Amino acid sequence: MITLENVSKTYGSGAQAIHALKPTDLHVPQGAIHGVIGLSGAGKSTLIRCVNLLERPSSGRVFVDGQELTALSPQALNQARHRVGMIFQHFNLLSSRTVFANVALPLELMGVPRREIRERVQPLLDLTGLTDKHDKYPAELSGGQKQRVAIARALASRPKVLLCDEATSALDPQTTSSILELLKDINRKLGLTILLITHEMEVVKSICHRVGLIAGGELVEEADVGDFFTAP
Ligand code: ADP
Ligand code: ADP
Repeated sequence: MITLENVSKTYGSGAQAIHALKPTDLHVPQGAIHGVIGLSGAGKSTLIRCVNLLERPSSGRVFVDGQELTALSPQALNQARHRVGMIFQHFNLLSSRTVFANVALPLELMGVPRREIRERVQPLLDLTGLTDKHDKYPAELSGGQKQRVAIARALASRPKVLLCDEATSALDPQTTSSILELLKDINRKLGLTILLITHEMEVVKSICHRVGLIAGGELVEEADVGDFFTAP
């Protein structure tokens, strides 16, 4: 479902060049929950942002759902991005919009008619446990509830893939567990493929099927999660 071929990213040039991501191959099959773990500065954010081309790779090819994103025109890329949802550490909600209006936003931008937006948003609020939060503003919500809104918004365009950039790093352990349960649920119910980056072992242990370790911009090890954590 996600394939990176020889994808690298260098920031700056010459003596100032930072090789944030060295040429990397990655394959995440459909329906998988794949984690990439590493320390701060290892290149995790760069890697995940290359998947939907939020960051344009310096080299290599990116495929999502059989389509090469790195070969698309800007308009075609915008369309293709509907199939790739993303959530972030700090939620990135719009403070002036209600929960409903935050989740509706991507659909408005896609030109979905108002009535259809209403029909599509309500089930997403139910799925993410926000049924009664419809008219609240982000400032009235807990961190976990804000991340639920961000998840509902990411699902609005019916993506095939969900990218999670340190999605639980701003949350306490109990809230983290409930968000991870929700992600598992979504993976199971919707068959959504999930790629997540984290610096937390517990996150990987509790939901990932497979995990890669990134260090110094290189994916240095990859294994099924049971093997990854088995003591020698
Ligand atoms: P992580 O997510 O694992 O903390 P990042 O991908 O954010 O790692 O960063 C990898 C390296 O790339 C770090 O050395 C970081 O300072 C550098 N870096 C990240 N983004 C930029 C940028 N926009 N410009 C220059 N250097 C960057
Ligand atoms: P899966 O979901 O089973 O892991 P993918 O979604 O990665 O499969 O791939 C589906 C299709 O995408 C492949 O059958 C192929 O047509 C195309 N594809 C994926 N990676 C590449 C690649 N590196 N080069 C060309 N086509 C590719």
